[in-house]
Amino acid sequence: MIPGNAPDDLKSRIVPEPGGRLIYRCLGCNLEAGIEELLYTCPKCGGVLLIYDDDFAKLRQTPGETWHRIFDYRKMLTIPALKGIYRYHEFIGPVIPLDAVVYLGEGHTPVVEANATLQEKAGIRFYYKNDGQNPSASFKDRGMASALSYINFLIQKGLASDVLAICASTGDTSAAAALYASYLTPHIKSVVLLPHKKVTPQQLSQPLGSGASVFEIPGVFDDCMKVVEHLSETYNVALLNSKNAWRILGQESYSFEIAQEFEYELGDKVVVVPIGNAGNITAIMSGFIKFLDAGIIESLPKIIGVQSAHANPVYNYYLEPDRKKRKFVPMAAKPSVAQAAMIGNPVSMPRVIHLVEMYNRLAGQQRVFFIEVKEQEIMDWALTANRNGHIACTHGGECLAGLASAVKAQILESTETAIIDSTAHALKFSGFQDMYFAGNLPPEYGILPNPELINRPTMIQPEGVTRFPSHQNPLVGEELDLFVRKTAQDIAGRVGIAKRSQ
Ligand SMILES: *Cc1c(COP(=O)(O)O)cnc(C)c1O
Ligand SMILES: [Zn+2]
Repeated sequence: MIPGNAPDDLKSRIVPEPGGRLIYRCLGCNLEAGIEELLYTCPKCGGVLLIYDDDFAKLRQTPGETWHRIFDYRKMLTIPALKGIYRYHEFIGPVIPLDAVVYLGEGHTPVVEANATLQEKAGIRFYYKNDGQNPSASFKDRGMASALSYINFLIQKGLASDVLAICASTGDTSAAAALYASYLTPHIKSVVLLPHKKVTPQQLSQPLGSGASVFEIPGVFDDCMKVVEHLSETYNVALLNSKNAWRILGQESYSFEIAQEFEYELGDKVVVVPIGNAGNITAIMSGFIKFLDAGIIESLPKIIGVQSAHANPVYNYYLEPDRKKRKFVPMAAKPSVAQAAMIGNPVSMPRVIHLVEMYNRLAGQQRVFFIEVKEQEIMDWALTANRNGHIACTHGGECLAGLASAVKAQILESTETAIIDSTAHALKFSGFQDMYFAGNLPPEYGILPNPELINRPTMIQPEGVTRFPSHQNPLVGEELDLFVRKTAQDIAGRVGIAKRSQ
């Protein structure tokens, strides 16, 4: 649809103009700072920042109903900058002109209802939202589209040049950062730091393929993060971890999409997400709060944050029911198949504490919950999901395990519908499936393969066949006929199929 074909009352709104007055605000000391300079932490107290729109009140002047129509009509436009997360421009990054938007196909990921078998197993109606169908195959692309669009805007204005973008990663941040930075070649070069052997081969190949400088560091993600923090405080680099508040803005699109997908009816919805560095749950809470504030939704969905027992500092924090007695204790993360969430000291913890309180206050009741699951459950649920038509990564399995636990713990009611996040594509983490099937998952994971879920290939070399085809020696004539007949017979026998009646 061309913008001119929008209804008359929406014509001036359908293609957004730059607006808003974005500022950084420190969650520690409330310091406010302009966005002209890229800030990652508060210059005064070192606290984490979030970005706020000082002009947000203007957005409230548009009735919720009108916003629904704006977003719905925008969905039909063919303008690339509005095809991704900037469909919600006014709420994602209103200062960014559309010609600075970097769009690589992120966002608007499929929402797929689980089949009856899987819903029955989980004990509740639910959908997967497949964030693994983003361009670098994880939800991190949402945040990178935002961060890199902003950097691109600074470059276009002449406020930045020859940017060196840097991040630490459990694998997916670096894949996304390297991809988006490579699109802005030659203005941006990217550098990624990975914990040696703690990312999957697929994840390692991604930034290499995008041309980033890749450094492997001994230790775990938390160690890489310390090095990157030091680099960003000491050298002139652009930090692309979720400490960068622009990342959070972009990831809020996940909530906006759920709102639009479910016709803005969220009172009976439950959004389930895995927690690692806690950037994603931060963005999801913040996104729903914004839409509530602007009157676009009328109630906040429940949110369930899931952690593996091997990396559960956020869960542990909220175990203490008395708010005043809670104390955050970073931990040493143990090996987890939900490897991208294997983080013991989440950078966004202060954001989580701030937003959980606000979220529950606005809802007038507890709406954010935290669940812990076992490694065994993560793996078994991931495999079970995928045997029922999904493409869930291990973190998607973690969400489903968390959902099933929440149903058992009666945190959820049978009238509710869950939307659970498969944060990456199954293929990125298929090595864990391979080890599960082969029975060689290292014991530290504490996972015993369930024989019913194991699946392995069978090599077929039927008896009575003397020659088998090969690349150098293809079979012909009778030899080929014999090979085909015997091989087919062997397969038919193994899977128990009856012959056609002639
Ligand atoms: C980064 C990541 C997570 C954890 O998200 P946080 O924002 O760090 O909490 C979960 N799953 C996947 C696949 C990820 O890449
Ligand atoms: Zn501060």
